[in-house]
Formats: sequence, structure tokens, C-alpha cells
Amino acid sequence: MEIRVEEVAAEELKEKPAGDALGFGQIFTDHLFKMKYTEGVGWHDASIEKYQNFSLDPSAMALHYGQAIFEGLKAYRGKNDEIYLFRPKANLERMNKSAARMCMPQFDMDDVFAALKELLKLEKGWIPSTQGASLYIRPTMIATEAGLGVRPAHEYLFFIILTPVGAYYPEGFNPVKIFVTDKYVRAVQGGVGNVKTAGNYAASIMAAVEAQKQGYTQVLWLDAVERRYIEEVGTMNIFFKINNEVITPPLSGSILPGVTRDSVLQLIRDWGLKVSERQITIDEVMEASGSGSLQEVFGTGTAAVISPVGSLYYKGQQIEVNGGETGELAQRLFAELQDIQYGKREEPHGWVVPLS
Ligand SMILES: *Cc1c(COP(=O)(O)O)cnc(C)c1O
Repeated sequence: MEIRVEEVAAEELKEKPAGDALGFGQIFTDHLFKMKYTEGVGWHDASIEKYQNFSLDPSAMALHYGQAIFEGLKAYRGKNDEIYLFRPKANLERMNKSAARMCMPQFDMDDVFAALKELLKLEKGWIPSTQGASLYIRPTMIATEAGLGVRPAHEYLFFIILTPVGAYYPEGFNPVKIFVTDKYVRAVQGGVGNVKTAGNYAASIMAAVEAQKQGYTQVLWLDAVERRYIEEVGTMNIFFKINNEVITPPLSGSILPGVTRDSVLQLIRDWGLKVSERQITIDEVMEASGSGSLQEVFGTGTAAVISPVGSLYYKGQQIEVNGGETGELAQRLFAELQDIQYGKREEPHGWVVPLS
């Protein structure tokens, strides 16, 4: 694939923020990658150019019918200033699966990976060197065809934007408070809960807002049919440690198959701990808490990597997990994954891809 590169003039480059003033997703780099798709033609007009507004027809189909998918992965600055990506192909593969489910066009993974690397090389100076910080990569695809009517669009835009992000835990690795909702549901088997499509997040906002009003950081979703089986949290998969068994819900079709989830499962297996991908009900968790066998709860996702859970609220009852403290396993996983992601540790799985 040929990529036209139009570099922003030196005097127009943005000022880069200090490493400790990054936050999440507020600042974007100077350039983006984009390419267009036209039915019958395929992908065309690939370019790396200035990060700026797009022009869209007000009837662009993504705005009305929600054909919109995205991904999230990170680039890390490791030792000797080498840049590392963590399992990037897993994200691109998942995006193609999302595209298939949403009747959107798939792309050539090697082409897009090459484009991402070229964009990253150009924006290398934006990859922070502060401990725990990274460059968050957001590949996105939207239907741009103008016109109303529900059907697969014939025109799409694919783009990649980059945002430097700070350490997720600037004040330390603090457990979050989770609200278990039995009022709202996120996804159902046969639906689109297992793909990263924009509508899933729109549908989740109300539950999150209500939980936040009550002092909780995130919502834990139960299955949509019986409202008993645990699914996942906000934008994270969830793990429980009960009686020395590490449990996470199976990929039944309604939860997002997280790359972090998969990596955590692999590490736990490597360490020889007992781990099960099985259904787990909220009642089992509440009972385990009552009997003292609930040892740890933590979420997994690209943004936070590992997010320890300190308390769970369900039907008028709040339970504390591990005395509200980060558990040993969550701590160990966080340290191990961060070391791998920053290229500080040999790892046998081929997860880490150097940029150069
Ligand atoms: C992105 C996401 C995750 C985590 O996936 P990772 O690949 O680990 O970042 C989990 N749940 C939902 C709903 C998500 O959107």
C-alpha cells in the first residue's frame, strides 16, 4: 500500500506537554493516518497528514446508524529509548472481526501495521518517557457514505490517532469501587457485546453516570437474561480469586475478548496457578465474601492494565475485597505486564514488538 506523507511544517508543530501533565485522551499528536474505502474500489488514498478536523456530510451513515468501530493499544518507551508495541496484531485482528460483525470492510493487517509503524516513527517524539506513561493508539473506522436508510454503507474512513497518556495510577495503585447493576444490561448473546463498536459505549453511559453519582467508579455488568452471571466492567474484563482459584467469565459472545485478559490468563497459567474460564454468578462472589474465601478482584484492560477492585456494591450490600487493599496477584500481574510492555523482561510469548 502506498502512503502519501505530508509532514506538518516544523513551525506548526504543537508544543509537547510535560510528562506529568498528560491525563488521558485530551492531547493529540501532530499527525494522523487515514485511508478511504469505496465499494468496488477497495481501500485507497492512504495518507499520513496533519491531525485536523474531518469534513463529513451531515447524513454520513455512521452518525445515524452507528457503523463505527475502534481499537485501543499502546506504544511504550523502554530502555535505550527503544519503542515497544504490545501484541499489536491481536488488536488489528480484533478490529477486523469487529468490522465483519458490523458489515464494514476488512483491511489488510500487514498494510495497516506498516502504516501504524510509519506514523509512530514520525511521532516518536510524542511517546513519553515518564514511568507508567505511554502513547495510546486509537485506530477507528466509520461509515462516511452520505444518505439515510439502514444498510451497510458503501464508503468508509479508517484513521489512526495518537494521544500521549500519563500513568494510570499517578498516586499509586489504588483499588476502585464497583457498582454491580441489576437494572441495566450491556449486551446479550447474538448482539454486539463482543465487538468494539461505538454504540456499546453509548448504551453504557447512563449506568455509569448513576453509579458515579453514588460514589462508584465503574459498573459491573451481569448477563442480560438472568442477571446473575458476571460479564465484565466498563472497559475491562474481570477476574476473581476465590479459594486460590482464579476465575474469569468465558468468552460467551457478550463480553469483549480483551488482549489484557488473554495475557493475564497466559501468565497465570505460566505461574502454575489454578485458573478457570467459567461462569460465575454475583451470588457466588457475595457468598465467598461472606465466608471469607474471596481473596481478590481485579479488572484488566489496555488503559489501566490491571485495576484492583476494593469494594463491590450489589443490591443494597457493600462488600470489601481484601480489606480494600490491592491483592498480591494483582500487584504481581501489574508489575510483570509493565515490565514486559516496557521491554524490561524477556518473555517467551512474542508479545512485544520493537518499533525499529
Ligand atoms: C477494550 C475493552 C476491554 C479490554 O480489552 P483490552 O484488549 O484488554 O484493552 C474490555 N471490555 C470492553 C467492553 C472493552 O471495550
